[in-house]
Amino acid sequence: PCTTQDVIAALCAGAKTITEHRDELVRLDRSIGDADHGENMDRGFRAVVAQLDSAPPETPAAALKLVGTTLISSVGGASGPLYGTAFLRAASALGETAELDGSVLVGALQAGMEGVEARGKAVTGDKTMIDALSPAVEAAKASAESGAGAATVLAAAADAAHTGAETTESLVARKGRASYLGERSAGHVDPGARSTALLLAAFAEAGE
Ligand code: ADP
Ligand code: MG
Ligand code: MG
Repeated sequence: PCTTQDVIAALCAGAKTITEHRDELVRLDRSIGDADHGENMDRGFRAVVAQLDSAPPETPAAALKLVGTTLISSVGGASGPLYGTAFLRAASALGETAELDGSVLVGALQAGMEGVEARGKAVTGDKTMIDALSPAVEAAKASAESGAGAATVLAAAADAAHTGAETTESLVARKGRASYLGERSAGHVDPGARSTALLLAAFAEAGE
């Protein structure tokens, strides 16, 4: 069963992967943005780990809410409020659920994506984190509908997010800083789509 401790472990795994890929995310954002996505995400997730240590949450929803509020308050860039909103919406979707199964996870993922859409107004193809999140939600849904458990659903979401992030390479950005480059934004993977894929992969691996 996927309990509060599992959620905390997954979040710590997410923080670890962000630190490990900090330079890669900086490099991606240097090509089409302002070279701070790795720093922004690393600062945010280090703050999350510090909060998890100092005030351990008692429910999965409380853990995700902690992530949302911490990212919003510690990350200055566009990604802070966007990821923050995603985690806050995912937390609300969980409600009082103590153990996450496949369909609960789908609900949380979908709510998180809708939060990003509401806040950032990006649609699929705009070369943002939505291009990783949207296929992840679709794959999670299909997996859960076939009766899969939380770990399998997350693994399906992570695979789809990875592919989705890779597809951003050929796209022209229509939202965020990268859109200032116009056609010149093509030829580079979107940093936010990459960080979304990295986080989902870490969450999935932690749940195996
Ligand atoms: P900033 O652009 O403020 O420096 P970051 O570099 O941390 O912030 O984050 C950039 C990422 O945020 C982009 O790669 C993209 O995935 C995501 N992003 C930016 N604007 C939007 C938006 N309107 N909707 C969804 N995602 C967005
Ligand atoms: Mg940036
Ligand atoms: Mg910035």
